[in-house]
Amino acid sequence: MNKDKIWLSSPHMGGNELNYINEAFAENWIAPLGPNVNGFESDIKDYLSSEKLEVAVLSSGTAALHLALILSGVTRNDEVICQSMTFAASANPITYLGAKPIFIDSEADTLNICPEQLEIAIKDRISKEKKPKAIIAVHLYGMPYKVDEVNAVAKKYKIPVIEDSAEALGSTYKGKKCGTFADYSILSFNGNKIITTSGGGALLTNNKEHKQKAVFLATQARDNAPHYQHSEIGYNYRLSNISAGIGRGQMEVLDKRVEARREMFQFYVNLFRNVDGIKVFEEPNSDFYSNHWLTVIEVDEDNTGGISREDLRICLEAENIESRPLWKPMHMQPVFNESPFYGTGIAEEMFKNGLCLPSGSNLSDNDRDRIKNAILNCLKK
Ligand SMILES: *Cc1c(COP(=O)(O)O)cnc(C)c1O
Repeated sequence: MNKDKIWLSSPHMGGNELNYINEAFAENWIAPLGPNVNGFESDIKDYLSSEKLEVAVLSSGTAALHLALILSGVTRNDEVICQSMTFAASANPITYLGAKPIFIDSEADTLNICPEQLEIAIKDRISKEKKPKAIIAVHLYGMPYKVDEVNAVAKKYKIPVIEDSAEALGSTYKGKKCGTFADYSILSFNGNKIITTSGGGALLTNNKEHKQKAVFLATQARDNAPHYQHSEIGYNYRLSNISAGIGRGQMEVLDKRVEARREMFQFYVNLFRNVDGIKVFEEPNSDFYSNHWLTVIEVDEDNTGGISREDLRICLEAENIESRPLWKPMHMQPVFNESPFYGTGIAEEMFKNGLCLPSGSNLSDNDRDRIKNAILNCLKK
Protein backbone atom coordinates (compact mmCIF):
# COMPACT_ATOMS: atom_id res chain seq x y z
CA MET A 1 0.00 0.00 0.00
CA ASN A 2 1.57 3.30 -0.99
CA LYS A 3 -0.65 5.74 0.87
CA ASP A 4 0.25 6.64 4.47
CA LYS A 5 -2.00 5.15 7.09
CA ILE A 6 -4.69 7.38 8.54
CA TRP A 7 -5.15 6.39 12.17
CA LEU A 8 -8.27 6.51 14.29
CA SER A 9 -6.43 8.58 16.90
CA SER A 10 -2.70 9.10 17.21
CA PRO A 11 -0.40 11.06 19.56
CA HIS A 12 -0.05 14.76 18.78
CA MET A 13 2.76 16.57 20.55
CA GLY A 14 2.54 20.31 21.17
CA GLY A 15 6.24 21.21 21.11
CA ASN A 16 7.03 22.05 24.73
CA GLU A 17 7.07 18.46 26.02
CA LEU A 18 10.81 18.07 25.36
CA ASN A 19 11.64 21.18 27.38
CA TYR A 20 10.03 19.67 30.47
CA ILE A 21 11.85 16.39 29.87
CA ASN A 22 15.18 18.17 29.38
CA GLU A 23 14.72 19.98 32.68
CA ALA A 24 14.09 16.65 34.38
CA PHE A 25 17.31 15.26 32.89
CA ALA A 26 19.31 18.35 33.78
CA GLU A 27 18.28 18.04 37.42
CA ASN A 28 18.30 14.23 37.50
CA TRP A 29 14.60 14.03 38.43
CA ILE A 30 14.07 10.73 36.63
CA ALA A 31 12.20 8.96 39.47
CA PRO A 32 8.43 8.79 39.97
CA LEU A 33 8.56 12.02 41.90
CA GLY A 34 9.76 15.50 41.08
CA PRO A 35 8.62 18.90 39.86
CA ASN A 36 6.85 17.62 36.72
CA VAL A 37 4.69 15.23 38.77
CA ASN A 38 3.59 18.06 41.06
CA GLY A 39 3.30 20.50 38.15
CA PHE A 40 1.20 18.12 36.05
CA GLU A 41 -1.13 17.54 38.99
CA SER A 42 -1.65 21.25 39.51
CA ASP A 43 -2.11 21.83 35.73
CA ILE A 44 -4.91 19.24 35.74
CA LYS A 45 -6.49 20.77 38.83
CA ASP A 46 -6.42 24.24 37.24
CA TYR A 47 -7.86 22.94 33.99
CA LEU A 48 -10.78 21.20 35.69
CA SER A 49 -11.32 24.38 37.75
CA SER A 50 -12.84 22.55 40.66
CA GLU A 51 -11.68 24.15 43.87
CA LYS A 52 -11.39 21.20 46.22
CA LEU A 53 -10.16 18.75 43.61
CA GLU A 54 -7.18 16.58 44.54
CA VAL A 55 -5.21 14.97 41.71
CA ALA A 56 -2.86 11.96 41.86
CA VAL A 57 -1.10 11.17 38.58
CA LEU A 58 -0.50 7.46 38.05
CA SER A 59 0.99 4.99 35.60
CA SER A 60 -2.34 4.35 33.83
CA GLY A 61 -6.07 4.93 33.89
CA THR A 62 -6.48 1.27 34.75
CA ALA A 63 -4.31 1.75 37.86
CA ALA A 64 -6.48 4.76 38.80
CA LEU A 65 -9.64 2.62 38.55
CA HIS A 66 -8.04 -0.12 40.64
CA LEU A 67 -7.17 2.37 43.40
CA ALA A 68 -10.63 4.02 43.17
CA LEU A 69 -12.23 0.63 43.81
CA ILE A 70 -9.94 -0.04 46.78
CA LEU A 71 -10.74 3.40 48.22
CA SER A 72 -14.47 2.65 47.74
CA GLY A 73 -14.00 -0.33 50.03
CA VAL A 74 -14.49 -3.05 47.40
CA THR A 75 -13.18 -6.44 48.46
CA ARG A 76 -13.50 -10.13 47.53
CA ASN A 77 -17.00 -11.31 46.49
CA ASP A 78 -18.45 -7.80 46.48
CA GLU A 79 -20.49 -6.75 43.48
CA VAL A 80 -19.67 -3.65 41.43
CA ILE A 81 -21.91 -2.16 38.75
CA CYS A 82 -20.28 -1.20 35.45
CA GLN A 83 -21.48 0.20 32.14
CA SER A 84 -21.43 -2.70 29.67
CA MET A 85 -20.48 -0.76 26.54
CA THR A 86 -16.96 0.37 27.36
CA PHE A 87 -13.31 -0.59 27.03
CA ALA A 88 -12.42 -3.70 29.09
CA ALA A 89 -10.14 -1.54 31.27
CA SER A 90 -13.27 -0.09 32.95
CA ALA A 91 -14.28 -3.54 34.21
CA ASN A 92 -11.04 -5.50 34.61
CA PRO A 93 -9.93 -3.88 37.90
CA ILE A 94 -13.16 -5.13 39.56
CA THR A 95 -11.84 -8.66 39.08
CA TYR A 96 -8.33 -7.75 40.36
CA LEU A 97 -10.02 -7.42 43.76
CA GLY A 98 -11.92 -10.70 43.49
CA ALA A 99 -15.15 -8.74 43.14
CA LYS A 100 -17.87 -9.39 40.56
CA PRO A 101 -19.00 -7.05 37.79
CA ILE A 102 -22.73 -6.49 37.12
CA PHE A 103 -23.20 -5.01 33.66
CA ILE A 104 -25.75 -2.37 32.65
CA ASP A 105 -27.00 -1.48 29.17
CA SER A 106 -26.60 1.89 27.46
CA GLU A 107 -29.37 4.41 26.88
CA ALA A 108 -29.76 5.64 23.30
CA ASP A 109 -29.08 9.38 23.85
CA THR A 110 -25.44 9.19 24.98
CA LEU A 111 -24.67 5.42 24.69
CA ASN A 112 -23.71 5.51 28.36
CA ILE A 113 -25.08 3.75 31.45
CA CYS A 114 -28.89 3.72 31.42
CA PRO A 115 -30.20 5.25 34.68
CA GLU A 116 -33.40 3.16 34.51
CA GLN A 117 -31.62 -0.15 34.05
CA LEU A 118 -29.19 0.97 36.75
CA GLU A 119 -32.01 1.31 39.27
CA ILE A 120 -33.62 -1.97 38.18
CA ALA A 121 -30.29 -3.71 38.71
CA ILE A 122 -29.66 -2.15 42.12
CA LYS A 123 -33.14 -3.17 43.35
CA ASP A 124 -32.66 -6.69 42.06
CA ARG A 125 -29.20 -7.10 43.61
CA ILE A 126 -30.51 -5.74 46.94
CA SER A 127 -33.38 -8.27 46.79
CA LYS A 128 -30.66 -10.95 46.45
CA GLU A 129 -28.90 -9.46 49.49
CA LYS A 130 -26.01 -8.22 47.39
CA LYS A 131 -26.06 -4.44 47.52
CA PRO A 132 -23.50 -3.18 44.96
CA LYS A 133 -20.44 -1.50 46.45
CA ALA A 134 -19.76 0.98 43.63
CA ILE A 135 -21.02 2.17 40.23
CA ILE A 136 -18.60 2.68 37.34
CA ALA A 137 -20.07 5.10 34.77
CA VAL A 138 -18.21 6.03 31.59
CA HIS A 139 -18.27 9.11 29.31
CA LEU A 140 -17.88 7.07 26.14
CA TYR A 141 -16.04 8.64 23.20
CA GLY A 142 -16.11 11.91 25.11
CA MET A 143 -19.91 12.08 25.42
CA PRO A 144 -20.94 12.86 29.01
CA TYR A 145 -23.25 10.33 30.63
CA LYS A 146 -26.56 11.49 32.14
CA VAL A 147 -24.84 12.83 35.24
CA ASP A 148 -27.89 14.13 37.15
CA GLU A 149 -29.91 10.96 36.62
CA VAL A 150 -27.03 8.61 37.48
CA ASN A 151 -26.08 10.62 40.57
CA ALA A 152 -29.73 10.69 41.73
CA VAL A 153 -29.95 6.89 41.63
CA ALA A 154 -26.56 6.52 43.33
CA LYS A 155 -27.58 8.94 46.06
CA LYS A 156 -30.93 7.26 46.61
CA TYR A 157 -29.19 3.96 47.35
CA LYS A 158 -26.05 5.52 48.88
CA ILE A 159 -23.60 3.87 46.49
CA PRO A 160 -20.37 5.68 45.48
CA VAL A 161 -19.85 6.51 41.81
CA ILE A 162 -16.54 6.07 40.01
CA GLU A 163 -16.48 8.34 36.96
CA ASP A 164 -14.45 6.85 34.12
CA SER A 165 -13.46 10.04 32.31
CA ALA A 166 -10.60 8.38 30.38
CA GLU A 167 -12.04 9.50 27.05
CA ALA A 168 -13.63 12.76 28.19
CA LEU A 169 -10.95 15.22 29.27
CA GLY A 170 -12.27 18.56 27.97
CA SER A 171 -15.93 17.51 27.81
CA THR A 172 -18.52 19.28 29.95
CA TYR A 173 -21.99 18.62 31.35
CA LYS A 174 -24.13 21.66 32.22
CA GLY A 175 -20.98 23.75 31.90
CA LYS A 176 -18.93 21.71 34.38
CA LYS A 177 -15.92 19.67 33.34
CA CYS A 178 -16.08 15.89 33.18
CA GLY A 179 -13.88 14.39 35.87
CA THR A 180 -15.58 16.38 38.65
CA PHE A 181 -18.92 14.62 39.07
CA ALA A 182 -18.25 11.67 41.32
CA ASP A 183 -16.67 10.43 44.53
CA TYR A 184 -13.72 9.29 42.41
CA SER A 185 -12.92 10.10 38.81
CA ILE A 186 -10.21 8.81 36.56
CA LEU A 187 -8.36 10.10 33.48
CA SER A 188 -6.14 8.27 31.00
CA PHE A 189 -3.12 9.57 29.08
CA ASN A 190 -2.64 6.46 26.98
CA GLY A 191 -1.25 6.96 23.47
CA ASN A 192 -4.62 7.07 21.71
CA LYS A 193 -6.35 9.50 24.09
CA ILE A 194 -6.99 13.20 23.52
CA ILE A 195 -3.65 14.01 25.18
CA THR A 196 -0.98 11.50 26.08
CA THR A 197 2.05 10.97 28.30
CA SER A 198 2.84 7.84 26.21
CA GLY A 199 1.12 5.99 29.07
CA GLY A 200 -0.39 7.36 32.26
CA GLY A 201 -3.52 8.22 34.17
CA ALA A 202 -4.89 10.16 37.10
CA LEU A 203 -7.19 9.66 40.06
CA LEU A 204 -9.32 12.65 41.03
CA THR A 205 -11.16 13.11 44.32
CA ASN A 206 -12.45 15.92 46.54
CA ASN A 207 -10.99 14.31 49.62
CA LYS A 208 -7.39 15.15 50.54
CA GLU A 209 -6.99 12.04 52.69
CA HIS A 210 -8.15 9.86 49.83
CA LYS A 211 -5.52 11.38 47.56
CA GLN A 212 -2.84 10.76 50.18
CA LYS A 213 -4.03 7.19 50.56
CA ALA A 214 -3.95 6.70 46.78
CA VAL A 215 -0.36 7.97 46.54
CA PHE A 216 0.60 5.77 49.53
CA LEU A 217 -0.85 2.67 47.85
CA ALA A 218 0.67 3.67 44.49
CA THR A 219 4.18 3.82 46.00
CA GLN A 220 4.28 0.37 47.64
CA ALA A 221 2.41 1.29 50.84
CA ARG A 222 5.47 2.23 52.90
CA ASP A 223 4.78 2.99 56.52
CA ASN A 224 6.45 6.02 58.08
CA ALA A 225 9.73 4.45 59.29
CA PRO A 226 13.42 4.75 58.38
CA HIS A 227 13.49 1.11 57.24
CA TYR A 228 11.04 -0.42 54.78
CA GLN A 229 7.98 -1.37 56.81
CA HIS A 230 4.58 -2.39 55.44
CA SER A 231 1.20 -2.92 57.09
CA GLU A 232 -0.73 -3.04 53.83
CA ILE A 233 -0.31 -4.41 50.31
CA GLY A 234 0.98 -1.74 47.95
CA TYR A 235 1.36 -1.16 44.21
CA ASN A 236 3.87 0.46 41.89
CA TYR A 237 1.46 2.84 40.17
CA ARG A 238 2.99 6.35 40.34
CA LEU A 239 3.69 8.28 37.14
CA SER A 240 7.35 9.02 36.38
CA ASN A 241 8.65 12.57 36.34
CA ILE A 242 9.62 12.06 32.67
CA SER A 243 6.11 11.05 31.60
CA ALA A 244 4.67 13.88 33.69
CA GLY A 245 6.90 16.25 31.68
CA ILE A 246 5.17 15.11 28.49
CA GLY A 247 1.86 15.69 30.29
CA ARG A 248 2.79 19.28 31.19
CA GLY A 249 3.54 20.05 27.55
CA GLN A 250 0.30 18.40 26.47
CA MET A 251 -1.79 20.39 28.96
CA GLU A 252 -0.59 23.59 27.24
CA VAL A 253 -2.32 22.49 24.01
CA LEU A 254 -5.33 20.60 25.40
CA ASP A 255 -7.85 23.29 24.43
CA LYS A 256 -6.50 23.25 20.87
CA ARG A 257 -6.78 19.46 20.77
CA VAL A 258 -10.43 19.60 21.86
CA GLU A 259 -11.12 22.23 19.22
CA ALA A 260 -9.49 20.11 16.49
CA ARG A 261 -11.41 16.95 17.48
CA ARG A 262 -14.65 18.92 17.42
CA GLU A 263 -13.73 20.21 13.96
CA MET A 264 -13.28 16.61 12.78
CA PHE A 265 -16.74 15.88 14.17
CA GLN A 266 -18.16 18.87 12.27
CA PHE A 267 -16.44 17.62 9.10
CA TYR A 268 -18.37 14.35 9.43
CA VAL A 269 -21.64 16.12 10.25
CA ASN A 270 -21.26 18.09 7.00
CA LEU A 271 -20.16 15.04 5.02
CA PHE A 272 -23.14 12.92 6.02
CA ARG A 273 -25.76 15.68 6.08
CA ASN A 274 -27.29 14.54 2.80
CA VAL A 275 -26.40 10.86 3.01
CA ASP A 276 -29.30 8.49 3.64
CA GLY A 277 -28.90 5.76 6.25
CA ILE A 278 -25.94 7.25 8.15
CA LYS A 279 -26.41 9.18 11.35
CA VAL A 280 -23.58 11.02 13.09
CA PHE A 281 -23.88 10.57 16.83
CA GLU A 282 -24.37 14.04 18.37
CA GLU A 283 -24.95 15.60 21.77
CA PRO A 284 -28.63 15.10 22.75
CA ASN A 285 -29.01 18.75 23.90
CA SER A 286 -26.99 21.76 25.04
CA ASP A 287 -26.39 20.31 28.54
CA PHE A 288 -23.89 17.98 26.90
CA TYR A 289 -20.60 19.15 25.36
CA SER A 290 -18.40 16.36 24.04
CA ASN A 291 -14.70 16.63 23.24
CA HIS A 292 -15.62 14.22 20.41
CA TRP A 293 -12.54 12.15 21.16
CA LEU A 294 -13.87 9.81 18.49
CA THR A 295 -16.70 10.58 16.07
CA VAL A 296 -19.26 7.77 15.99
CA ILE A 297 -21.68 7.03 13.15
CA GLU A 298 -24.60 4.63 13.01
CA VAL A 299 -25.12 2.81 9.70
CA ASP A 300 -28.61 1.64 8.76
CA GLU A 301 -27.98 -0.66 5.82
CA ASP A 302 -31.67 -0.71 4.86
CA ASN A 303 -31.27 2.95 3.91
CA THR A 304 -27.74 3.11 2.50
CA GLY A 305 -28.54 0.96 -0.53
CA GLY A 306 -27.32 -2.16 1.25
CA ILE A 307 -23.94 -0.87 2.51
CA SER A 308 -23.45 -2.15 6.05
CA ARG A 309 -21.20 -0.90 8.82
CA GLU A 310 -18.75 -3.67 8.01
CA ASP A 311 -18.80 -2.87 4.26
CA LEU A 312 -17.85 0.71 5.07
CA ARG A 313 -15.08 -0.36 7.44
CA ILE A 314 -13.61 -2.65 4.78
CA CYS A 315 -13.78 0.10 2.10
CA LEU A 316 -11.83 2.40 4.41
CA GLU A 317 -9.30 -0.29 5.25
CA ALA A 318 -8.67 -0.82 1.52
CA GLU A 319 -7.62 2.85 1.38
CA ASN A 320 -5.37 2.42 4.43
CA ILE A 321 -7.78 4.34 6.64
CA GLU A 322 -8.42 2.96 10.12
CA SER A 323 -11.95 2.83 11.50
CA ARG A 324 -13.36 0.55 14.20
CA PRO A 325 -16.64 -0.87 15.50
CA LEU A 326 -17.71 0.53 18.87
CA TRP A 327 -16.45 -1.17 22.04
CA LYS A 328 -17.86 -4.68 22.18
CA PRO A 329 -20.13 -4.68 25.25
CA MET A 330 -18.67 -6.44 28.28
CA HIS A 331 -21.71 -8.70 28.72
CA MET A 332 -20.95 -10.12 25.24
CA GLN A 333 -17.27 -10.80 26.04
CA PRO A 334 -16.21 -14.43 26.57
CA VAL A 335 -14.26 -13.51 29.70
CA PHE A 336 -17.39 -12.06 31.37
CA ASN A 337 -19.95 -14.60 30.16
CA GLU A 338 -21.01 -15.47 33.70
CA SER A 339 -21.64 -11.88 34.81
CA PRO A 340 -25.22 -10.68 35.24
CA PHE A 341 -26.51 -8.10 32.73
CA TYR A 342 -29.48 -5.74 32.92
CA GLY A 343 -30.69 -4.23 29.67
CA THR A 344 -32.87 -4.16 26.59
CA GLY A 345 -30.38 -4.56 23.72
CA ILE A 346 -29.32 -0.98 22.98
CA ALA A 347 -25.58 -1.62 23.39
CA GLU A 348 -25.84 -4.75 21.24
CA GLU A 349 -27.57 -2.82 18.47
CA MET A 350 -24.94 -0.05 18.52
CA PHE A 351 -22.17 -2.65 18.51
CA LYS A 352 -23.71 -4.09 15.36
CA ASN A 353 -24.23 -0.81 13.46
CA GLY A 354 -21.82 1.71 14.97
CA LEU A 355 -18.45 2.77 13.57
CA CYS A 356 -15.73 5.05 14.97
CA LEU A 357 -14.09 7.20 12.29
CA PRO A 358 -10.61 8.78 12.20
CA SER A 359 -10.80 11.66 14.68
CA GLY A 360 -7.22 12.70 15.48
CA SER A 361 -6.36 16.34 16.10
CA ASN A 362 -3.45 16.03 13.65
CA LEU A 363 -5.36 15.06 10.48
CA SER A 364 -4.67 17.28 7.46
CA ASP A 365 -6.94 18.62 4.72
CA ASN A 366 -5.43 15.97 2.48
CA ASP A 367 -6.35 13.25 5.01
CA ARG A 368 -9.91 14.58 5.16
CA ASP A 369 -10.15 14.50 1.36
CA ARG A 370 -9.01 10.88 1.34
CA ILE A 371 -11.53 9.94 4.02
CA LYS A 372 -14.33 11.76 2.22
CA ASN A 373 -13.55 10.17 -1.16
CA ALA A 374 -13.23 6.69 0.32
CA ILE A 375 -16.61 7.00 2.04
CA LEU A 376 -18.45 8.51 -0.92
CA ASN A 377 -16.99 5.95 -3.34
CA CYS A 378 -18.02 3.13 -1.04
CA LEU A 379 -21.59 4.43 -0.79
CA LYS A 380 -21.85 4.71 -4.58
CA LYS A 381 -21.24 0.97 -5.02
C1 LIG B 1 -8.27 4.08 27.89
C2 LIG B 1 -9.38 3.76 28.80
C3 LIG B 1 -9.16 3.25 30.09
C4 LIG B 1 -7.82 2.82 30.59
O1 LIG B 1 -6.82 3.73 30.58
P1 LIG B 1 -5.30 3.25 30.44
O2 LIG B 1 -4.55 4.50 30.72
O3 LIG B 1 -5.12 2.76 29.04
O4 LIG B 1 -5.06 2.19 31.45
C5 LIG B 1 -10.26 3.06 30.93
N1 LIG B 1 -11.50 3.31 30.51
C6 LIG B 1 -11.76 3.77 29.28
C7 LIG B 1 -13.17 4.05 28.90
C8 LIG B 1 -10.72 3.97 28.37
O5 LIG B 1 -10.99 4.40 27.14
